[in-house]
Amino acid sequence: IIRTEKLNKYFSDKHVLKDINFEVKRREVVALIGPSGSGKSTLIRCLNALEKASSGDIYINGEHLDPNLSVKQLSPIRRELGMVFQNFNLFPHMTVLQNVIEAPLLVRKMPKEQAHALGESLLAKVGLLEKRDIYPGRLSGGQKQRVAIARALAMQPRALLFDEPTSALDPELVGEVLKVMKDLAYEGSTMVVVTHEMQFARDVSDRVVFMSDGMIVEEGDPDDLFRHPKEKRTQLFLERVL
Ligand code: ATP
Ligand code: MG
Repeated sequence: IIRTEKLNKYFSDKHVLKDINFEVKRREVVALIGPSGSGKSTLIRCLNALEKASSGDIYINGEHLDPNLSVKQLSPIRRELGMVFQNFNLFPHMTVLQNVIEAPLLVRKMPKEQAHALGESLLAKVGLLEKRDIYPGRLSGGQKQRVAIARALAMQPRALLFDEPTSALDPELVGEVLKVMKDLAYEGSTMVVVTHEMQFARDVSDRVVFMSDGMIVEEGDPDDLFRHPKEKRTQLFLERVL
């Protein structure tokens, strides 16, 4: 569903992604791990065209994400991917339900009744149906992030990209968000998760990709990679975080 070929990204003369060949198959859950500054966020931002690749190719569901496409041409490809950020980015002046159904109403021109039904079913799925009419300001961080996940799902994307979805949360709220993500994984959602939650990566992902210094250093089955990392840099990183 997602594929990059020799993807490179420079920020002025800083080489941040180096010949990245990254692939995600349908129904696969990929955990992207690595030290701060290794390029994890930049990689997933390139995938949904929040950043423009400097060279190389990106294919989303078989479609080439050509950097020369206009914003208008890009938007249907971008919609294939739902994005969940560290900081939720909910609209503060809209209720929880309005946040979830905004994009289907506006972008998909979904009829109001249908959007409401979809929104309610997604809020039920993340355990927040009873919060439908309140404003995000009154939610905990964990609840906000669950709304953000429901909102990403509302566009029925082919894959979900998560960039450290729990790292802004108080420790006691991390579990409820991971639980929702786990449910999605077991339902067969296609997911890329940038995370520092090694236990989650190990338990839930199908494949772990370790990045360091703009490169994919090593990837593989979670148990293999955590137990027998082949590369020195992977070993050093895992020693520090486990
Ligand atoms: P973290 O775990 O801290 O989130 P990361 O692996 O997500 O790190 P990136 O945010 O992708 O790392 O950053 C990779 C490198 O690119 C870093 O050196 C960072 O300083 C640099 N970088 C990221 N965004 C920009 C930008 N907009 N302009 C210039 N440099 C940037
Ligand atoms: Mg990051």
